[in-house]
Amino acid sequence: MTQWVYAFGGGSAEGDTSMKNLLGGKGANLAEMASLGLPVPPGFTMTTEVCTTYYKNGEQYPDDLDPQVEAGLAHIEKLTDKVFGDAENPLLVSVRSGARASMPGMMDTVLNLGLNDETVEGLAKLSGDRRFAFDSYRRFITMYADVVLGVHHHTFEDILETFKDNRGYMLDTELNAEDWETLVGRFKDAAKRELGYDFPQDPRVQLQGAIDAVFGSWMNDRAVVYRRLNDIPAAWGTAVNVQAMVFGNMGETSATGVAFTRDPSTGENTYYGEFLINAQGEDVVAGIRTPQTLTKVARENMGDEAPSMEEAMPDVYAQLAETFVSLEAHYRDMQDIEFTVERGKLWMLQTRTGKRTARAALKIAVDMAAAGQISQDEALMRVDALSLDQLLHPTLSPDAPRDIIASGLPASPGAAIGEVVFTSDEAEALKKAGHKVILVRTETSPEDIHGMHAAEAIVTARGGMTSHAAVVARGMGKPCVSGAGTIRIDLAAQEFSVMGRVVKKGETVTVDGATGHVFAGEVEMIQPELSGDFAKIMAWADEARTLGIRTNAETPLDVQTAKDFGAEGIGLCRTEHMFFEESRLGNFREMILATDKDGREAALAKILPVQTDDFAAIFRIMAKDGQSLPCTIRLLDPPLHEFLPHEEADIQTVADTLGVSARELMSRARELAETNPMLGHRGCRLGISYPEIYEMQARAIFEAQKQVASESGVTPIAEIMIPLVSSAKELEILKAAIDRIAQDVGALDYSVGTMIELPRAALRAGDIAEHAAFFSFGTNDLTQTTFGLSRDDAGRFLPDYVRAGIIEKDPFVTLDQDGVGDLISIAVERGTAVNKDLKLGICGEHGGDPASIRFCHNAGLKYVSCSPYRVPIARLAAAQAAIASKIAAH
Ligand code: ADP
Ligand code: MG
Ligand code: MG
Repeated sequence: MTQWVYAFGGGSAEGDTSMKNLLGGKGANLAEMASLGLPVPPGFTMTTEVCTTYYKNGEQYPDDLDPQVEAGLAHIEKLTDKVFGDAENPLLVSVRSGARASMPGMMDTVLNLGLNDETVEGLAKLSGDRRFAFDSYRRFITMYADVVLGVHHHTFEDILETFKDNRGYMLDTELNAEDWETLVGRFKDAAKRELGYDFPQDPRVQLQGAIDAVFGSWMNDRAVVYRRLNDIPAAWGTAVNVQAMVFGNMGETSATGVAFTRDPSTGENTYYGEFLINAQGEDVVAGIRTPQTLTKVARENMGDEAPSMEEAMPDVYAQLAETFVSLEAHYRDMQDIEFTVERGKLWMLQTRTGKRTARAALKIAVDMAAAGQISQDEALMRVDALSLDQLLHPTLSPDAPRDIIASGLPASPGAAIGEVVFTSDEAEALKKAGHKVILVRTETSPEDIHGMHAAEAIVTARGGMTSHAAVVARGMGKPCVSGAGTIRIDLAAQEFSVMGRVVKKGETVTVDGATGHVFAGEVEMIQPELSGDFAKIMAWADEARTLGIRTNAETPLDVQTAKDFGAEGIGLCRTEHMFFEESRLGNFREMILATDKDGREAALAKILPVQTDDFAAIFRIMAKDGQSLPCTIRLLDPPLHEFLPHEEADIQTVADTLGVSARELMSRARELAETNPMLGHRGCRLGISYPEIYEMQARAIFEAQKQVASESGVTPIAEIMIPLVSSAKELEILKAAIDRIAQDVGALDYSVGTMIELPRAALRAGDIAEHAAFFSFGTNDLTQTTFGLSRDDAGRFLPDYVRAGIIEKDPFVTLDQDGVGDLISIAVERGTAVNKDLKLGICGEHGGDPASIRFCHNAGLKYVSCSPYRVPIARLAAAQAAIASKIAAH
């Protein structure tokens, strides 16, 4: 018999935190907390297998599920000493979804389930608080009708607002028992009007409806989009948690709140959170009332009037703080916690590892390692390598002039500039059209996920530090200002205003999520300082990793940036970029137009000194202060026609400057045109046809090398790389030519190797290795040629392939380990069998992708090479790969 239901509460549980896959994150951690002896309302979890079985069997539950749910209910009844559906002593429950990974977009929680016209009277009597009972009932009707029955909550909010207006009430707290009772009647009528039937009164019908809604929500559009964006497989399923209600809305000694054991924005080791007195559930997150701070220090820092929890409820606060300490010690990581206080008694409703900004991740990892709570390796594994990107980008220059439009809470750090938009669809559309946008909303909900993804930053008028916008933005690493209360959005007019000042859609603003300000126009930014925790994690990463990290760079600026970020060499210097510059293009075109070798050589002679200077500038950066870092320089790669003008107007100008006729120029361009240029006359094929081009480039490299060596006393290390080789013979011929030039110039320290970027080269790696000092896997072209898929056109249909489940990820972003990876492994094996000193690296885009880096580590490559801003990410990812394989080996 399958166990579909796992009970928890009363100091023990059937599950634990290791069972996340089965119980979902929420269920597993509720069980764990119950076993730890923490005050958790009793409940049960219906497993993710119920969900997967349900969908496998055409939306049918397993036969033996019902009795297990009944047993679960009986368990709660026993521990609470209440009875579900009983008129005198009613048990109320919450129904909560909970997948393995936390997933906005799933069904929202339903609270106070089990209330009806009879049980509400029982609850009133039991609690001695009629107002509370009817407040709970109207909350239940609203929530259940909204999330389970599909009646929009505005229906009820409108009724409430009208009621308040008529009676002259400002706040919900001014409504008395009778008022709520009246409203409950109106809510039920409204629900019936919308639904065409009575709001369900039978608690068991209510429960089944809520359970159906959770499992149903696993396949709703929002959840599907969220899963796609976050790589969560549909096959995981969600669990459902049914749990006894505890009430934060039982008056002034009751409250509800959320907390982090450390500051999720900065990583500071201080408690951080918000709470609301006499409130329930999502009131804190929904931003309906402004929450109060948790600690006195936080209140003082924010300049708040309302007392902190530490001041308002000192005893419960002390107990909560103790719980923070024990939970953090138990989970050995920062926790994100939800709690409720019912008449002075603390209840824990959720704990999970807290989402954090990159900056906080670094600080928490370093602090916990320093305190001996985790090891140095664990600290490295705790930081998401890709998230470092957040820290590598600019912040606002402190001295730059600025013009504040609005202020709110500093909900997620970082600065961004963009055009104002008001809807998520618009954000997405404009982003697709190449715009940078700032999404400005009254508040966000899970329906805004795609817009938040598209936006550079998010601004909301309502909500606190734990509002939907704030939490999601931090998770995405986007700047966010929440609760900018003075902003009034006028959707019809496509503008927002702040105390009379109007900002229209499309106007540029700057958002600073670190301070919570929104500025008019563009504010100047500065580069980040990469010291402190960042430097420490990088130093630890360098200790742990075995892969070398190089960079793909050709301009002195990029080379210097990469070196500053810790690059240990250049893995790919593309020489063609050097020809595209206006001042050089003329000579290069002259070379292309030359009809014979003499003509080409004359043109190349003019290019030689310029190329020599280019290489010297790079060598000067990489060979310095007694240290020489290797520079892999790739000889000319693209087809020549790319260098000729294509527009008619350009053709005439170019013809004039070159002193040829436009006709001559056009006919040469036609000669060079190819049907399939990427598979055409390019790479080493140019070197075979026109040896003088590669000879000039080799000469420039060697002369630059000598020049820099004599200037600085440090000899640059030149690794000359031949592109697009498919046979050993090509490399043999071209290497011989380069060796001749080397001898002629008196080259100092050089080697010749090749890119492996064609399947044939990978297969024939054995013969090729006889002539190569190194292989560098050019995985962009290798992916293209292995799949027979054009990188430039694949974008149009790859999403179909991902949706259809044919490929999991864009193979141009994350290396296709099965196919392309296989070719790499073959090349490594065959190449090293012939030449055991063969240096192995990768220089495709994949060199900066953590998953691909892990593959490179396991495949035995010596280094990865990536763009300058990816270097720190690659350093950490390489360390994580080394640690992961160490763990796997144990
Ligand atoms: P989410 O995954 O969106 O955080 P939860 O299931 O955690 O949804 O529920 C949201 C909030 O509802 C909780 O933070 C808590 O305040 C409230 N809640 C859930 N279950 C209970 C319960 N049994 N008693 C009281 N409040 C509850
Ligand atoms: Mg929720
Ligand atoms: Mg929660």
